[in-house]
Amino acid sequence: MTPNVVDSVVTDTDPNASCVLTTNTDTETVWRRKQDTQSAISDQNNNNSTGSSSSRGGNHCDHDTADSTPFRAQIRWPDFFAQLFVHVGFLIGLYYLVTFQAKLYTYLWTLGLVWATGLGITAGAHRLWSHKSYKARWPLRLLLMFLFTICGQRDAYTWAHDHRVHHKYSETDADPHNAKRGFFFAHVGWVFLTPHPEVVAKRKIIDMSDLEADPIVMLQRRFYIPLFALLVIGLPVLVPWYCWAEQLSVAFWVCFTFRFTTTLNIAFFVNSVAHMFGNKPYDKSISPVENLAVAIAAMGEGWHNYHHVFPWDYKTSELGSYLFNVTTGFIDCFAQLGWAYERK
Ligand SMILES: [Zn+2]
Ligand SMILES: [Zn+2]
Repeated sequence: MTPNVVDSVVTDTDPNASCVLTTNTDTETVWRRKQDTQSAISDQNNNNSTGSSSSRGGNHCDHDTADSTPFRAQIRWPDFFAQLFVHVGFLIGLYYLVTFQAKLYTYLWTLGLVWATGLGITAGAHRLWSHKSYKARWPLRLLLMFLFTICGQRDAYTWAHDHRVHHKYSETDADPHNAKRGFFFAHVGWVFLTPHPEVVAKRKIIDMSDLEADPIVMLQRRFYIPLFALLVIGLPVLVPWYCWAEQLSVAFWVCFTFRFTTTLNIAFFVNSVAHMFGNKPYDKSISPVENLAVAIAAMGEGWHNYHHVFPWDYKTSELGSYLFNVTTGFIDCFAQLGWAYERK
């Protein structure tokens, strides 16, 4: 069985991990395994013996120095206006839908796209590329990349990179969407604010060599801008216009901005709601929770307390049926075909 990437990164490559994960008193995380605790105790002893507690640059150490140079996030205006545009566009698309100005097939097409392309995120970017919780043969990887690209949520390499940082440094300054900075930041603020220096630093030490060896991932990354134009805007908008003579403006606001922003916010809910509102049957000391509504909307990604404790599990949950974990059903179907294998 292939070792979990995130897991292995924690102990194998980062000398600061134990400082970040076990001695930060206002941030409780999942990484509480025995060896981390032992190395933290060892670190503390070393620090005590040298009389220094902040010389290594870890997250805990940043808290020590934070009073003198507090980090202030700046707004990245192009990203801010992009978010503003798609969210206003969401409302315009919603207006067309609730006033029945779109054709029936446009409703079905939009719903189908939200549902099917979401699997590109859950089964692709998340469970396959971020966590390597199962393996997929190239036709399935190609299908997942096609679906994921239609979502428009950056390239898979960047998505998985930030997600690995999120798991490894969950709810510390190094977490790209640290839920301890509040609901708005965890939901969408992190997308248009400058990242904390700890995020920038920790991104550099995350092992991404497995994805760098995946030609499908690297090709999508290389040609992301034309692929975005073609698959995020072109395909969803032009199919209704060409195939059932939908008005181009309706197709644009419904099938691009409304659809895009719907999927985006469902993904955001995992970072915000599923880190705040729900129960914690697996580890009460961490913030991620089990949330049924997010599990339904995000096709099985709402069992987040379990997922942060056992990130290598391809089901991202212990219990529940396919009804509340559509992604697991999807992966299991492809396992029957032999396209998915070594499910952990
Ligand atoms: Zn999380
Ligand atoms: Zn994850």
